[in-house]
Amino acid sequence: MRAMSEPSPTSPEAAFSPATPYRDVTCGDLRATDAGRSVQIAGWAHRRRDHGHLIFLDLRDRYGITQVVVDAEESPDAHAVASRVRNEFVLEITGQVARRMAGKENAELETGEIEVRAASVQILSEALTPPFYINEPDATTDESLRLKYRYLDIRRRPLLDRLLLRSALARAIRDAHHRAGFVEIETPILLKSTPEGARDFIVPSRLQPGSVYALPQSPQQLKQLLMVAGMDRYFQIARCFRDEDLRGDRQPEFTQLDLEMSFVDEQRVMDFVEAMIVDVSRAVVPDRPIQQLPFPRIDYKEALERFGSDKPDVRFGMELVDLAPVFANGSGFRVFDDALAGGGRVKAIVAPGMADASRSQIDELTEFARRFGAKGLAHVSLAADGELRSPIGKFTNVAAISAAAHAKQGDLILIVADADGDVVADVLGRLRQELGLRLGLADQNVLAYCWVYHFPMYQWDADRGSWDATHNPFSGVVPEDEKLLVTESGDPYKPSRQDPAGRARAMQYDIALNGWELGGGSVRIHKRELLERSFALQGYSLEKMHAQFGGILEAFDFGAPPHGGIAMGLDRWAALFAHQTNIREVMAFPKTQSGTDLMLESPSEPDPEQYSELGLRFVGLDAAESTSRPDAKQ
Ligand code: ASP
Repeated sequence: MRAMSEPSPTSPEAAFSPATPYRDVTCGDLRATDAGRSVQIAGWAHRRRDHGHLIFLDLRDRYGITQVVVDAEESPDAHAVASRVRNEFVLEITGQVARRMAGKENAELETGEIEVRAASVQILSEALTPPFYINEPDATTDESLRLKYRYLDIRRRPLLDRLLLRSALARAIRDAHHRAGFVEIETPILLKSTPEGARDFIVPSRLQPGSVYALPQSPQQLKQLLMVAGMDRYFQIARCFRDEDLRGDRQPEFTQLDLEMSFVDEQRVMDFVEAMIVDVSRAVVPDRPIQQLPFPRIDYKEALERFGSDKPDVRFGMELVDLAPVFANGSGFRVFDDALAGGGRVKAIVAPGMADASRSQIDELTEFARRFGAKGLAHVSLAADGELRSPIGKFTNVAAISAAAHAKQGDLILIVADADGDVVADVLGRLRQELGLRLGLADQNVLAYCWVYHFPMYQWDADRGSWDATHNPFSGVVPEDEKLLVTESGDPYKPSRQDPAGRARAMQYDIALNGWELGGGSVRIHKRELLERSFALQGYSLEKMHAQFGGILEAFDFGAPPHGGIAMGLDRWAALFAHQTNIREVMAFPKTQSGTDLMLESPSEPDPEQYSELGLRFVGLDAAESTSRPDAKQ
């Protein structure tokens, strides 16, 4: 090692190289061409095989594994140390690189043609026996152990590889944005409420007792203010916080790629985002083909009509078929006729090759449909011999249904009828997705991106007695629908369910990937008057609007450019790239399903001193209850 007073490495290459006082190269570097070279390497004892006078040590770091041979005759001291080594000890080893004997090469290791014949072995750190196998990454491991000992799980290849992939994703995102002239800007974490439809995490302030910050649900208002500031193109890989119930693809804190652009319309934002996505996908997962270029752009209503979903999985067809035209003169089956008479829908999907589905399979699908609100699930099967079989065959013309659905021999037609058309779309959309996966119709390797645009501006919130933004309270309205942003009463502060606003479409676009919502954004309202009108429809009094959004409303008085942007779930994107369904699998330190950190045990009770400094007291909880114990619930 060098003395502190010695100069720094002579060249930037040396400073940037992996060499350190403990090693010349990493455990992944050595090749046959290095044979004969004296080296120093360091890492963890991945595996140790003791053959008496020969001890084999597999030395591991994040770059790879190098086999070390310690020979009692060649280096007795090194052998004595190596006999004490256990798995996961941290070692520093010097020795000479040698080609492995013919036939002893390991094709699975990049370093598999060589081994290091040890001259010295030094133990830098001893290790307890880990709670799960590090050297058998495929061994199933209890999920809570993986979270409690996350630093050990990260030593294992699968999670390590996913974190490397995530890092490559972030890098590719940055590259693409810099190329397009975006500026990376960090926005504050201690902020004010930024509504995105979830509860806020709040942070009390010692300097302002009685006041709280809210952690950002998104940097929405700040990025819009950056557009008012003239930044033109902004992006950030932003941490967002939402206090909501956790599911497979949710965590209380998560990461978004957040971006905003000035002087744009919807097309322009989608064009950039699409090109950026293609660039990033090709850089990070070059082996995974993109299904369709340009990405399909589907109007929201059409997406629901064809796929029963606003995040359709377009890797396969199986589109919803409208059966109403078949029953123009009545179907003869009461359930269908009542649904249509009630203003509802009767629609179907065709499950290929499922004509022979057993009774219990049909029952299971019916149960599935009921779980999502259907009253039942009718079916018609077109057997391989061309015969049509169906429990509703005695009431209605199943041949006409089969023809309308373009069923082929061997197919099963599944039909949902309901007076509420949304239920029909939703249930069939979910069935479609489920069966598409079960029947292997969705190619696991393909990346099927698709846009859905022109979402409704608002949905009626009966509890609050006002409209609610379906996506983003700042979204702009499609220009030809601007005249709809009015109330029936004429008083902008008295919204009602009958308002024309319910029919207005937003300049809102979502991007879906393989049936997952990957991101969403919009072109925003950039005029104060219109934003106030929209907030009034969303149930804000002028007073409340100014208390919550006064800053941005005022900013709009100083010249706001037309602008729009999007946010994409970075965790979801990484998970989809890594073939995972839970975003925890691409996060270094995620929380459990109940929002706890099992490793560092948070959340935890504040120090009594912190209570008094902050002027806080938990009420309604006695001391024992207020201690939040991280639990192991997933
Ligand atoms: N702020 C929005 C969100 O977090 C995205 C956007 O409209 O840019 O979902």
